[in-house]
Amino acid sequence: MANSKLGRSSFLGYPLSKLSLALLFLVGLVVAVTADDLNFPSSNTRKSHHPSKKLNKPVVLLISTDGFRFGYQFKTETPNMDLLISRGTEAKTGLIPVFPTMTFPNHYSIATGLYPAYHGIIMNKFTDPVTGEYFNLNLSPKWWLGEPLWETVMNQGLKAATMFWPGSEVPKGSWTCPKGFCKAPFNASFPLEERVDTILSYFDLPESDIPDFMTLYFDEPDKQAHQYGPDDPRITLAVAKIDKMIGRLIQGLKKRKVFGDVHVILLGDHGMVTNCDKKVIYIDDLADWVKIPADWIQAYFPVLAMNPRWGKDVENPGEKNADLVAKMNEALSSGKVENGEFLQVYLKEKLPERLHYSESTRIPPIIGMVGEGLMFKQNRTNAQECFGNHGYDNMFFSMRTIFIGHGPRFRKGKKVPSFENVQVYNIVAEILGLQPAPNNGSSLFTRSILLPFGETAQVE
Ligand SMILES: [Zn+2]
Repeated sequence: MANSKLGRSSFLGYPLSKLSLALLFLVGLVVAVTADDLNFPSSNTRKSHHPSKKLNKPVVLLISTDGFRFGYQFKTETPNMDLLISRGTEAKTGLIPVFPTMTFPNHYSIATGLYPAYHGIIMNKFTDPVTGEYFNLNLSPKWWLGEPLWETVMNQGLKAATMFWPGSEVPKGSWTCPKGFCKAPFNASFPLEERVDTILSYFDLPESDIPDFMTLYFDEPDKQAHQYGPDDPRITLAVAKIDKMIGRLIQGLKKRKVFGDVHVILLGDHGMVTNCDKKVIYIDDLADWVKIPADWIQAYFPVLAMNPRWGKDVENPGEKNADLVAKMNEALSSGKVENGEFLQVYLKEKLPERLHYSESTRIPPIIGMVGEGLMFKQNRTNAQECFGNHGYDNMFFSMRTIFIGHGPRFRKGKKVPSFENVQVYNIVAEILGLQPAPNNGSSLFTRSILLPFGETAQVE
């Protein structure tokens, strides 16, 4: 729309007497519109036929839609997401979250490229077993380890802006959460439309002031799905609303003639699964094998987190922990504990390596992996109705979310296999030409998902 409008005014300004030249121009115009609307920029023809191009620097907009389970996009019409997918690169079977598949650990893994054991936000809420301090969405920098993208960007002389993102309010390095470029504190009632419009307003700044890196966070469809479960019709409406916000963004970028220039990465933090009363394991059912005081348990499900308090007179607490784990697993596999087969308890250093969930003193010594959609509760008195949750093993397909990349460095209509979200940090760093901080992603991975820098240089 914006291109044809601009094209029309240029055409009207052309001398009518030079008919052949005007016709030539018209042909050029058709090529330009076709290239922009159908063939997303992939060759240097774009430069000569794209008078609307505005940005002369790479810009990345990283968007998270919380709890957007892979497959939600098929619940309803999502024309705007479809547009990004058809003209961009998509993880064909979704983006793999890190374990535990919770909001804060995952958003901060996306931002740092680190597994939770290394970035320190090991759950949404937890008690540090060493210091006894409690983390509850705390903003003190000491909790937030690693180097998030907004810090890398600022440390290397570029500009960042955050429209909500877990951890973005925390001052780190050159990042101070600057007023006007860092919306804080998080406010769930701040309308999604205004979040989009705040991002769009940055594109009205002189180019040198446009942030090179921006985050945009939507706390839906997660919120609704926790309350009603992932299959409720209200989730379908929430998905449609998110797509509408993407549409609002695309239209705003098109109006400013930068849609083709901005790298839009649309992803989620985790998926969602239904919990129901019938899928519960009760601690009290283990009493014949082992007694577990309630104050040893920091979290019940989707991750069982236990920090037994053996007392000062116990000489080898590690041995006692191992003994406790063995007794719990004996009970759970006895066939006498309801749903017992759906809980496996580990010393944290014995957890499957693929979870990367042991190398932190913040992780309690005993971790239980609860089966997909299962709950672990103290006793039978506190049962509830069905609802939705996440946090389970990142191997479960229900925990997967989406990844869509759109912009000059992303191939058009490309599908890539699923990958872990710790790769996203390097992708953004590569697009922005930044030296990445040490992280758990692979620097080679960016080659499988991005066009080589040289090809982009032609486009630019
Ligand atoms: Zn959630």
